[in-house]
Order: sequence, then C-alpha cells, then structure tokens
Amino acid sequence: MQSRREFLKTAAVAAIGTGLVGTGLIPNAGAFGTAGDKRINVNKNGGKKMKLSFFPYELRLQHVFTVATYSRTTTPDVQVQIDYDGMTGYGEASMPPYLGQSVESVTTFLKKVNLEQFSDPFQIDDILTYVDNINEGDTAAKAAVDIALHDLVGKLLGAPWYKIWGLNAAKAPNTTFTIGIDKPDVVREKTRECADKFNILKVKVGLDNDKEMINTIREITDLPITVDANQGWKDKYKALDMINWLKSKGIVMVEQPMPKEQLEDIAWVTERSPLPIFADESIQRLKDIRSIEGAFNGINIKLMKCTGMREAWKMLNYARARGLKVMVGCMTETSCGISAAAQLSPAVDFADLDGNLLISNDRFKGMEVVKGKITLKDIPGIGVKLLK
Ligand SMILES: [Mg+2]
Repeated sequence: MQSRREFLKTAAVAAIGTGLVGTGLIPNAGAFGTAGDKRINVNKNGGKKMKLSFFPYELRLQHVFTVATYSRTTTPDVQVQIDYDGMTGYGEASMPPYLGQSVESVTTFLKKVNLEQFSDPFQIDDILTYVDNINEGDTAAKAAVDIALHDLVGKLLGAPWYKIWGLNAAKAPNTTFTIGIDKPDVVREKTRECADKFNILKVKVGLDNDKEMINTIREITDLPITVDANQGWKDKYKALDMINWLKSKGIVMVEQPMPKEQLEDIAWVTERSPLPIFADESIQRLKDIRSIEGAFNGINIKLMKCTGMREAWKMLNYARARGLKVMVGCMTETSCGISAAAQLSPAVDFADLDGNLLISNDRFKGMEVVKGKITLKDIPGIGVKLLK
C-alpha cells in the first residue's frame, strides 16, 4: 500500500511521462494520474483525494444479550476510515443478525465505493447520494461511509456536528440503559449494577414473562422505564392490557409493541394507549415515515438502519414537522457509531445510546455518559479519539 506522499511522487512521475508537465495542462506537481495509466486527473483541490479503507472487527459482548427474537454473544462489525489531506474520519457498520447484513455484504459494498472521484469532501450531499445509489439496501455499509465522511468534514471545519447543526449540548438527554430478557436473579443483579449509574432504564419485553421482568426490576428501583417489545405482542387486546398495566408500574414509553405487518392493530393500540408508542422495526428510512403516520406517536432513528447522520437529521426534522416524537437508538456499536448518533441527541425526546457500554473491545473514546446523561464534548467531527 502506498503512502499518500509516495503516491503523489509516483503520480508526478506518471505526469512527466505524459509530457504534460509545464504545458499549462497540469497545474502543479501535485496533480496525479493512476500509476500505470496514461490518463491524468486534474482535480480542483490540489491533488487531494479521499481514500476509503476498512476491516472487519468483531464486537465482543460483556453479557449474553437476549431479546424477544434471539440471543447472542458477539456482533459482526466493520470499521471504516476516510483519509484526506492528513486527516482521518472514522466510521463503522454494525450488523446485528436480524438486519440481514454481514461482514461479507458490507465489505462487498464498500469495495464498490470509489470516493477518489470526488475532490471536495464538503460536497456531502453529492457524495452520499452517489453512495446511496450504488444499490438498494446495505444501510449499515452506507452508514459507515456517512459517519466517516461526517467525522472528516467536522474535523476539517474544526467543529462537532451538534454545533454544526446548531444544537445545545446541555439539552442532551439521559440515555436509557437496556436490561435484556433473563431469569429473575440475573435481572435483579443487572438492575442493581445499573440503578445508580442511570436515570432511566429500558427493558426488553415481548415474551411471556413481561410482568415478572418488570416486577423484579421494581423490587430494586423506581427509576422511569421505557419498554421495547420488539414486535413480541401479537394480539392487540393483550397488548393494550399490558400497556395499561405497564403505565401503572411507572413505564413511560413503549417501543414497537406488535409486528410491523400488523400496522392497523398497532394504530388501534396507539389510539387507546396511555403511553406514547414508538416505531422501530416498522421504519428504516426517511421514506418510511409517511407509511406509519397515524399508527405511532414517535419514531426510533438508528444510523445503521437509515444510512447514517445525513438521513437521520432529515428524519428528525421531518418527524418533528409531522408532530411525531423522536428517539435515537443504536445497535451494539463501538463509541464511534454511538458518538455519531449522540450528535443528534440534544434534539430528541428519548435516547437509547448504550451500545458501546455492552462491549469489551471498544476502539474509541467518545461520547460519555456522566451520571446517566449524554455528555457531548467540544471535539470536532463525531467527537472520538482512537484508543489504539
Ligand atoms: Mg427497538
């Protein structure tokens, strides 16, 4: 692999080989061609190019993670970076199995991405529209490029994205901390571990032990709780009964109560629910929001589902304009993806950004949770430093 300096040297030699240097067709020795190729690309940015690189990085979970539909101990992930003019922007793709993306699908997609055709990283819209149009799907791979590009551009501007978007870091919310479905003893222990560190908890429900889960947690703490049924309730009457019971137990919000295919049943539940109902599995991207209006009170925005920060910001603003509440969520991710999502957090109603706290091999130091609250620092880009 050539360093940038070596590459430019080779390119200058290639340019001399064409006889174009000094003819006025090549502005300076920084102009380049492709080694072994007689074509000369003269870009407008003094020969600076963006270079995308990536490698698989399996995330190790501290505990077995169980939700209504599966359990697991690792999460596949691909780490991405864009180098440009001595700066590096970091991104990542995290692929929980239910999204249907894998290390193989992500790397196959990333190999198709040619950022070297763009001379100006500030043209985020052009670049990410190109990336999005490479093919359908591959949202996590697209998010990885999007996050790395936002990190790079923020670094070039010398500002974090929450500032570029005009958000007030002091308004960043508490993050929920998730307690997975488990036996009472384990739930009790996990609740004790996190009850002092967080101001709001998120509990995975949707199996037949929902009341046991909540009652067990209530033995330990009175903290507000959000619940995520992950499509686990199939009957609208039972779902509404459960939600009414949850309201009596101090639950403050319900995520994806029923399967996404049962949109009419969800609308029926939402109309009668004493708690706000948020869509997660029912939406992926901006274009999906219209289809769930009237059936939910809010949406859960996740970078890995929606292709990244650019679309997440659009979704947030569209949802607000349509009177919907907004939460920002995550997958199991390093502090890279989490810090990128956290840039939006001052503008949301709920934040569920604990994915980095669940892994034992984080590569970054980024957004920190201080006394349960998302604490954004004045670090350019997505606000992360590489640990090793
Ligand atoms: Mg969810």
